[in-house]
Formats: sequence, structure tokens, C-alpha cells
Amino acid sequence: TEQTFDVVIVGSGGAGLSAAIEAAKAGKSVAIVEKMPTVGGNTLISGGEMNAPGNWVQKNLGITGDSVEAYYNDTMKGGDNIGDPKLVHLMAEKALESAEWLRDDVHVEFLSDQLFQFGGHSFKRALIPKGHTGAELVSKLKAKAEELGVKIFLNVKAEELIQDANGRVTGVKATDKTKKEVTFLATNGVVLTTGGFGSNVEMRKQYNKEYDERYKSTDTVGTTGDGIVMAQKAGAVLKNMEYIQTYPIANPKTGMISLLADTRFDGAILVNQEGKRFVEELDRRDVISKAILAQTGGYTYQIWNDKIDAISKTKEAHKAEYDELIREGLLVKADTIEEAAKFFDIDINNLKETIAKVNEYAKNKDDKDFHHRGGLVSLEEGPYYIQKAVPSVHHTMGGLVINEKAEVLNDKGEAIPGLYAAGELTGVIQGKNRLGGNAITDIITFGRIAGKEVSH
Ligand code: ADP
Repeated sequence: TEQTFDVVIVGSGGAGLSAAIEAAKAGKSVAIVEKMPTVGGNTLISGGEMNAPGNWVQKNLGITGDSVEAYYNDTMKGGDNIGDPKLVHLMAEKALESAEWLRDDVHVEFLSDQLFQFGGHSFKRALIPKGHTGAELVSKLKAKAEELGVKIFLNVKAEELIQDANGRVTGVKATDKTKKEVTFLATNGVVLTTGGFGSNVEMRKQYNKEYDERYKSTDTVGTTGDGIVMAQKAGAVLKNMEYIQTYPIANPKTGMISLLADTRFDGAILVNQEGKRFVEELDRRDVISKAILAQTGGYTYQIWNDKIDAISKTKEAHKAEYDELIREGLLVKADTIEEAAKFFDIDINNLKETIAKVNEYAKNKDDKDFHHRGGLVSLEEGPYYIQKAVPSVHHTMGGLVINEKAEVLNDKGEAIPGLYAAGELTGVIQGKNRLGGNAITDIITFGRIAGKEVSH
């Protein structure tokens, strides 16, 4: 079968849904092709937090001094200064507008009295969606897209881009659940928003041997780099493919990201089997991941108390994960630190010494060992929580090269006509290392740009 739309979008994560909404608003007929049985991709299972300097919650909390420049600098530095300065600046400039668009046009609810300060950021600037997950974003984006008449085709996998004699991308060849070929022709163009390749072990190894089978992934099974491969066949150039990010705190059995462990942003500490801290808990993800793998057994324990939990009410927000970790023996709650440490056989004398130091550093607001940038929080009082965790492949920084119009470029730096991309499959914004809360800002901002540009 063959169908024609003005705009065809491949992938229904945050980038694809944002592009779809903008294209539909511009009056275009829009199809989203999604290979999985549900919409949302990794956006759905992410924490959903979004960096926006100068946002309204900062005002509510009396946080001053943040700026587009500060956010730009943090992001560039966090990625070792190899991100495209123009595109990073564009993301920083548009971050607040993107957040306000989600709030006002898409009706996403953000908490009004809490923000996260992820690793590598110099301010608390990440907005937190209701429920602390991307489900709030995806459900509202999907509702908005459908309200505007966007057609979403589930269980349809894009296989190949169609190009005319001049190299212009004019559609997508796809297969449905029964492997039948279905063709989507695109009068205006195609937007690729298929996410990264974290779940594709072969592709990971092709670009960086380090990230082999030893690593599980936090990503959905659909995160296999399809859009990157399809675009490359159509002449797109790839960049930064070797930079693969691990999330430091994931489930040792499944590889799933731990959102319960967001207590780290409120002051939870990391120790090793010997009961000693070994890294600044708010350092970059790559730094923490490497440090964890260098410890006994290649894992870490995250420790916090009720006082820390109460700051963002993390346990309440991630009740299902909490229960599962307890069931699996990967998390323990106990009134005393001795009891909690015993569960995992952590060296209790060292651990007590570590905690005594943390309490002193918290009181003096000076972490003499690792210079915790958020300031340590006292662990004097129980009950205590200890969670076992490992790093897991989380985000692939590399991918397609785009310009400010989200056009996909070939090896001569020219735009491939009719082809646009946004989100994790692009490879020029996050540098060597993406900072927390930057994926949502990236995908919403460039997803919207792609949706507007393809509609011209
Ligand atoms: P982003 O954050 O960049 O929006 P996500 O991971 O949230 O990325 O979403 C990407 C979506 O693209 C997922 O829902 C995934 O299942 C979908 N996808 C990946 N490859 C294909 C393909 N070949 N055809 C259709 N959909 C795809």
C-alpha cells in the first residue's frame, strides 16, 4: 500500500511528537511511523526533567543569576567543548521558550516548587514534570498531536528512505507487523526522530569496542540506530559516534535506569564495598561511571536517609521501582546504618567513618574530600536506604550532522533536500558527554524546529 502525507515523521519519542505538532499547526498533513506497539520511546521512560535557564520555578525558589550563557557554558564544557557552538547556543537560547511551549500549548504540568541540579550544571535549572517521569510529557504531546489531526501508525517500522533522481528524500519504505511493505510518500519531507543506538550492541561495538555485552542498557529495545543507518545510506555524514554515555546508577540485574536514585541530586552519597566514598556524586556521568567500574566488583552503593528522601519525595514518586528493588534484594531500608550495611556486607567501620565525615562536611558546608557542588546533607538520622547499582549504556552522543534548520547534512556540508532530523540520533549538540536534563531540552527544541522547517 502507498499513502501520501505532506510530512512523514519516523519515531514517536519527544522529538517526533514535537515535530508533528509544529507541522500540523503549520497546516500540513502529518504521519508518524512508530515501530513499537506504543508511542514515547526513551522519552517515556526517562525522568523527563528539562533544563531551562531563567525559568519560572527558579523565580519561585528565589534562585537568581542563571542565564543562557551560563547554561551554554555548562553544556559545552560538559561535552568537552566538541559540541557545535552555534547549535548548542541555539538550544540554550530557546530552552525557556521550549519549556513554556510545553507548559502553555501542550499543557504539561511541571512541579512549581522543585528543581533538579544535575551533574555538571552550575545552577538548579531542571524543571520536573508531574510524576517525575517522561510519561507526563509523552501523554500530553500525544494528545496535542492527535487533537491537531496527526496520524500515528504503530507497529510500522521504517526500513529505507526513498530518494528521487536528484537525491531529494520523498518518502519512507516501511514494513508492518506482518512484514508487508507499506510506503509513505512525503510531499514536503521526512523527519527522522528514531533516537539513539544504545540497545544495539553490534552497532555500539562497531563504533566503540569498550561498550560490548558487558554493559546492559537503560534504553527501550527499539533504540537500535535505525534512523542513523537509513540516513547514512541516503548520503548523510555521521559524527561523534564513539561517544557513548553510561548512566552511573542503574539496576544491576536489568540495566534499567534508577529514578529512585534521583536522591543523589538531593544529597545521597556513593560508597564502595569497603564503605568509602570515591567520587563527587554530582560529577559528570562518565566520570562517575568510570569511577564505579574501578571499584571492587564494578558496582556502587548509594546511601541516603529519610531527610534526603523528603526533599523531592523521591520514594513516593517512584514507588513501583522502590518495591521492585526491595523484592530483588537490591535495596534495603533500616533504622540504623549498621543494620543497613550488614545487608550488603559493607565494611561498617569505614562506613561509619565516612558518614561522620559527611555530617561534618554538611555542617561546615565544605566537602573536603570531593567538593560536592550541591553541598552535602547530614546523614546523622535514620532510617537509612542503601541501594546497589551499576553503570548502564544510556545515551549515544553521536549521530547525524544537522544545521540550525534541523536539515541533515552530507559530507560536503550540504543539506540533503527533504531530510530533517532531531533528537538523540543527531550527533553535534551533546559533545562527548550529555549533561542530565539536556536531552529533553534538545529534543523539544530541535523537534519543533524540524517540524516548522519541513513545513515551508
Ligand atoms: P528522542 O528522545 O530523540 O525523541 P526516543 O528514544 O524518545 O528519541 O524515541 C525514538 C522513537 O523512534 C522510539 O519510539 C522508537 O521505537 C522509534 N523508532 C526507532 N527506529 C524506528 C524505525 N525504524 N521505524 C519507526 N520507528 C522507529
